[in-house]
Amino acid sequence: CGITGYIGFRKAYPIVINGLKRLEYRGYDSSGIMMYDGKDIHLSKTKGKVSDLEKITNLENKRKQGYIGMGHTRWATHGVPNDVNSHPHFSQSENLVIVHNGIIENYDTIKKELVTRGYTFKSDTDTEVLINLIQEVKNNEGCKLGKAVQLALTNVVGAYAISVFDKTNPDEIVVARLGSPIAIGVGEDNTEFFVASDASPFVEYTKNAIYLEDEEMAIIQVGKDVEVRKINDDSIVDPIVHELQM
Ligand code: GLU
Repeated sequence: CGITGYIGFRKAYPIVINGLKRLEYRGYDSSGIMMYDGKDIHLSKTKGKVSDLEKITNLENKRKQGYIGMGHTRWATHGVPNDVNSHPHFSQSENLVIVHNGIIENYDTIKKELVTRGYTFKSDTDTEVLINLIQEVKNNEGCKLGKAVQLALTNVVGAYAISVFDKTNPDEIVVARLGSPIAIGVGEDNTEFFVASDASPFVEYTKNAIYLEDEEMAIIQVGKDVEVRKINDDSIVDPIVHELQM
């Protein structure tokens, strides 16, 4: 299973798709992408190979236009491998979108609570529960995505690498890790950023990488230094930027 992502000045589609191919060795049963075209979020997802995903997206050229994208290969843990359970997953408002590797162990308790607050779910995944929890926190707190992700994750038991995007504040990607890897490729002068489960999807574009530690999250915004924080106490971490040798 794997995660890819891009935010910057290049067309995101080939970076996200080719990145998923580089991560195929990690094993998966389904794949999907989200592309943001400057106005709308487009999701394409399917059970099967990344090459199957490409066939779908080839029919939908407008999905390839944006400069922001995220990709996912899924190894199903909650819900059978099928198109609906494939990632990315929207929140109910369809403003937030997530890709996730790992397991949310207490998803059932959270899901029941969200159902009493009027949430409905399209998939059987733990992941769709998490993105709606983030949505609920964001609505209640009236905060930005980074804060909502941080607060939501303090209520989560499990393991994860996540990447989240918010259409209502579309100039950033928020990532977090506990138990599953997240690498961030830093483009020259912060003009672009890459997200991936390991550095192989972005090594051809940049040699500078930040590896999140467990219980860390990052807010990634073009033109700014990556903001890394501890999930549990919100303290700021000074990230080490590694120089890739490959
Ligand atoms: N638990 C999530 C699911 O079943 C993510 C699985 C993965 O790591 O790919 O959809």
